[in-house]
Amino acid sequence: MAASNVLAEAERPSVTTPALASDRMRAQMVSRIEQRGVSDQRVLSAMLSVPRHPFVDAALASRAYEDSALPIGHGQTISQPYIVARMLELLRNGRELGHVLEVGTGCGYQAAVLGRLARLVVSIERIKALHELARDNLRPMRLPNVRLHFGDGREGLLTHAPYDAIVLAAAGEEAPKPLLAQLAIGGRLVAPVARPGGGQQLIVVDRLSEDRWESRQFDDVHFVPLRFGTT
Ligand code: SAH
Repeated sequence: MAASNVLAEAERPSVTTPALASDRMRAQMVSRIEQRGVSDQRVLSAMLSVPRHPFVDAALASRAYEDSALPIGHGQTISQPYIVARMLELLRNGRELGHVLEVGTGCGYQAAVLGRLARLVVSIERIKALHELARDNLRPMRLPNVRLHFGDGREGLLTHAPYDAIVLAAAGEEAPKPLLAQLAIGGRLVAPVARPGGGQQLIVVDRLSEDRWESRQFDDVHFVPLRFGTT
């Protein structure tokens, strides 16, 4: 049998630098997300361009491109990449985004991805230590259009309202009223909420006019709880 002297990709001794290895793992992560049904190319290329490993603890960096949520301390998690992509695809709905509000900055990963998709991203976090962690994580990425705020995101932020899109990264009983009020007419909110029979599901709320909002239910999800106040 003629032996091939060309080693298959997987058998070749690794000579890639860590940076290139992470680029390749990120490309694999994005192609898995695409296989699972996310088709918005703007979202997929934003996720291709934002490294995820700097947002997790060094001890977990080797798992940064797995399709799973990972702990970021303070009982919170960095969201699963597929869910981030799915939510941002629903949020964008094929539109160019102006002002976007994110509730639940966590480590700042999704805010960085949003920074590639919107003119201005305002992200609010209620845990001071995580707000500061996100600030440290985002600083070297130099994203002038991403603004981080410390506070209770359930109140939104009037300074930059109205928002074309609002995304929540933590699950409440329903979409908070102040957020619905800060949504632009024609704007869309995407949030995980508690399902009446238990568990959680994604909801999409479109603001149709001054006084009409339409809500629809999507995928079952699992998010950390939306909490009151700051800490
Ligand atoms: N966006 C993050 C996910 C963070 S997990 C990512 O890119 O992976 C959700 C975050 O929501 C947690 O950090 C939690 O502290 C925060 N959170 C929960 N309730 C909140 C509230 N009322 N206001 C702001 N942040 C909140």
